[in-house]
Order: sequence, then structure tokens, then C-alpha cells
Amino acid sequence: MLHLKDPSSSEANPLDLVIVGAGFAGLYALQRALSSDRTAVAIERGGDVGGTWYWNRYPGARCDVQSMEYSYSFNDALQQNWSWTERYAAQPEILRYANHVADRFELRPHIRFETLVVAMTFLEATGLWRTETNSGEIFFSRFCIMATGCLSSTNLPDFVGRDDFQGEAYHTGTWPHEPVDFTGKRVGIIGTGSSSIQSIPIIAAACAHLTVFQRTPNYSIPAHNGPIDQDYAQEIKAHYEDFRGLNRQMFAGFGAHQSRWEDSVFDLDEPERKERFEARWQEGGLGFSSSFSDTGSNLEANQIAAEFVRNKIRTLVSDPETAERLCPDQVIGCKRVCVDTNYYETYNRPNVDLVSVKDHPIERITPTGLITNGTQYDFDMLIFATGFDAMTGTLLKIDIQGRAGMTLAETWSAGPKTYLGLAINGFPNLFTVSGPGSPSVLANMIVAIEQHVEWIASCLSYLRDNSKQIIEAEVKAEESWVELVNEIAEDLVSNL
Ligand code: NAP
Repeated sequence: MLHLKDPSSSEANPLDLVIVGAGFAGLYALQRALSSDRTAVAIERGGDVGGTWYWNRYPGARCDVQSMEYSYSFNDALQQNWSWTERYAAQPEILRYANHVADRFELRPHIRFETLVVAMTFLEATGLWRTETNSGEIFFSRFCIMATGCLSSTNLPDFVGRDDFQGEAYHTGTWPHEPVDFTGKRVGIIGTGSSSIQSIPIIAAACAHLTVFQRTPNYSIPAHNGPIDQDYAQEIKAHYEDFRGLNRQMFAGFGAHQSRWEDSVFDLDEPERKERFEARWQEGGLGFSSSFSDTGSNLEANQIAAEFVRNKIRTLVSDPETAERLCPDQVIGCKRVCVDTNYYETYNRPNVDLVSVKDHPIERITPTGLITNGTQYDFDMLIFATGFDAMTGTLLKIDIQGRAGMTLAETWSAGPKTYLGLAINGFPNLFTVSGPGSPSVLANMIVAIEQHVEWIASCLSYLRDNSKQIIEAEVKAEESWVELVNEIAEDLVSNL
């Protein structure tokens, strides 16, 4: 087997593959490449493997898909040998798993860490890609796989005076590797997405005072996390292949172990409906969204599910005004629901306040805190839980030039278009893993990643077996894919 541990390349001697990223997508793409005797290098911005789970180290970071499902299925020995400790794995355990995979398949020597890809150019004369890094290193390859992640560029809103704050400031998506001490501190957190909802209960318990700045409230379902039931884990392992197969057929790539109902909200009377929702609430997690068949497609059914959660919030939060402020009014499940441990209950603590910035946006950041609605709030620490420049952010930061020097930024100036979320017209031999237009972030990401990488691997085998050099998405293929995605979306409830 030819494995280039120190891949040098030239136009005359190109690599088969340049892979951008060494998160779960990049690691699997690299494993597939090496096991098919391809020469490959993965280029990773971080200091180690893990992607999302390398960067997002904020307190309470945890997966919202259960451990037995949020893992690779491609190697049976791997899935039999690895043991999860909790029902929902926390970030350090998932990062250990990513490291285990990198070591087990000897991937690390093929990864350039702490290296940023700055430019990628398709060379029409040779049909090769030229990839340039921030250290000036150049790689030539026949194919490129963009395993850059959907949520890998942080969103730091352009608040007036953003850099004026003199205390400690963090973004959840680039949390420090060293422990952060909250003891005795006044902390402000901006944003109430999943990252914030997971970290708020832990920060609140450790700091002197926490003020949460909320623009849009979110729906959150309790995780009921705990140690993994070892009998359940053994039972899954005994039939892992079947279990994975069933999950691949599920709408979002997980949940095959849960009871499923095909009936409509309107098939049951109110007490029976409540009983169903209550059962799902007690089970916990994302499965709440599939309590009935039509909460995702019928607005009235959706509102019944939403009202059930709002009533839970009203029961869990003692102060009625705070409870109402925490009640979302948008449809439930359009944005992925959050999964929490003691989120709503945390607002009953005397050291936690909720400030709505919906009608009175943050006016400015100041040296000691921030101002909203004319009031100055002072902090020792400010946390930006303000999310990501999702889906396209990281791809567009790289100067990617396809045919005739067209950049990806120009090509997507009216919005991203892909074929299957995998390929882009004008950018031959370049693949995106879980790119725009793929199911990706509403699904179990590892299932989506495996499906994409396996599609790319079979495509590369086809090209090799048929002595073909170039593959490119046709405009009409892209158009019909985008049309299909839009058609499916039109049948679902949305906030529009
Ligand atoms: P997010 O869901 O995008 O939340 C960002 C938050 O910041 C929102 O509440 C947003 O308010 C607020 N915000 C942004 N700009 C603001 C501004 N100028 N002023 C005030 N508030 C502002 O980000 P996230 O929580 O990091 O989650 C990102 C994605 O990762 C989600 O899809 C989530 O499902 C996923 N995730 C998953 C897990 C898990 O597996 N458990 C954990 C974390 C994250 P608006 O809503 O009003 O914009």
C-alpha cells in the first residue's frame, strides 16, 4: 500500500486527494482514501482532530443525539470495542472518541494540524486542484473533499464597541482549552441557542450572578441524561448492523429504538394527546418532535405541540413573567429543538436574571459590560453564545476558484446551489461533505457524513475503474435538486 506520510506533491506528481478538515467528516474521508490506496493529506486548522468537538468546549457541551447512535458505523470492531459512559455523551468523551479513531486507523501522520487552507484553484490545463495554505505550502491533487463542517465559523455580531470590554470575553464556539473559573464573578451571556441552553445551568451554579440576554426564546426538551444502561448498550451491540440500518432509514438518521406513531394529533382527544406528549417529554430528547406524524407538516398540529412545551415552561419556571418571556411563539421544530439538563429550572435560582433584547437590541458593548434599553449592565465576564456563520461561512472564507477563474463567492452570490449537497457546477472534482442543500444539520451528523463520504468513495472508484479523470455537477442536475429540496420544504411548517 502506498501511504504518503509526508505528502509532497507537484503538478507532475499530484496527490489523489486533498481533504480540508479533520473533524468527523475529514477523518472518515481520510480513512476511506487510505484504505483504497489513494494518496491523501488532510489539512486542519485546529491543533488536533475532532472539528466541532475540538472547538466547542464550553461548560455543558454535549451531543443531543444518543451515544449509541452518534458514532461511526463503518467498522464493526470499532463500534464493538468502544464503550460510551453516558446516554448523551459530553464533549470530552466525544473528543476522546475522535482521537481513538484517528489513532486506531493511523490517520494522524496524514494530517497537517494548525494549518489553514487559504486558496484553492482549479487548473483547467491539467484538471488538477492547487491548494495553498497559510504557511505557503502548495498541494496539487486530482480531487478535493471539503470536510469543513456546517458550523465551524463563529458568528460574532458587530456590536458597537464590541472590543471595548475590559473583562474576560469568550465565544462558546472557540472556548479556551484551559479551565475557566466562574467563582464569585458576574457573568453576562448573549444568546439562547443550544450552546447557551447547555451552558447556562452549569455557569449559573458556579458564578456569583448570571444575566442572560435573549433575543428569541427556544424550545428545549429535557435530556434525562445519565449513565448509559449497559444492558441496553449490549443489546444494541448484539444487533448493531440492523440498528444502524434502521437509523439510516429514519427521517433524521436516528431514533430507530423509539416507539413511532403514524397517527395525527387530531386522531386523539385532548387527554390522550397530552398523555402522548407527556410520555415523549419523559423519554426526553429530540424524539419529542415525532410524537405525532403531522406536527412538522400541519401548522395547527404544530401549535398544539408548541403549547404543550409552553405549558411545561410555565410549570417549571416559578416567576410567571420570566416564564412568559421564555415561551417561544414560533413553530416548534423548524429550528432544531434544544435538549437540556435543568435549563428552565435554572431561572428559579436567585442569582439568574433574564433580559429580553428582542424589542430593545443591545445598543453597545462598554468597557464594563453592555447597554440595552438605556440600562448599563456590568460584568466580570461576557460570553457570546451567538452561534455560527452556518453552512457556507467556512467555505466562503477560502478563495476557491473553479472553471474560468469563477470564485465560489461569485457563483453563490445569489445563495448556495449544489447537487445533493455534494457537488457544485463549475467546480469539477471538488466535493462538499454535508454541504448546503443536504439534510445535514437537522439530522444525525455522523449518519449524514458517512452517507456523503461513502457516496464520494464510490464515485472515485467508478472514475478510477472507468479511467475517467473529471466529474462535475451539471447545471440541470443542480436545478432539479434545488427544486426537489424546495418542494419538500414547502410541505413543512416554517416560520416564514
Ligand atoms: P444558535 O442556535 O445560532 O444561537 C445563537 C443565539 O445568539 C440565538 O439565540 C441568537 O438569537 C443569538 N444572537 C445572535 N446574534 C445576536 C444579536 N446581535 N443580539 C442578540 N442575540 C443574538 O447558536 P448555537 O447555540 O451555538 O447553536 C448552533 C447550532 O449548533 C444549532 O443548530 C444547534 O442545534 C447546534 N448545537 C447542537 C448541540 C448539541 O448537539 N447538543 C449543541 C450546541 C449547538 P436569534 O435566535 O434571535 O437569532
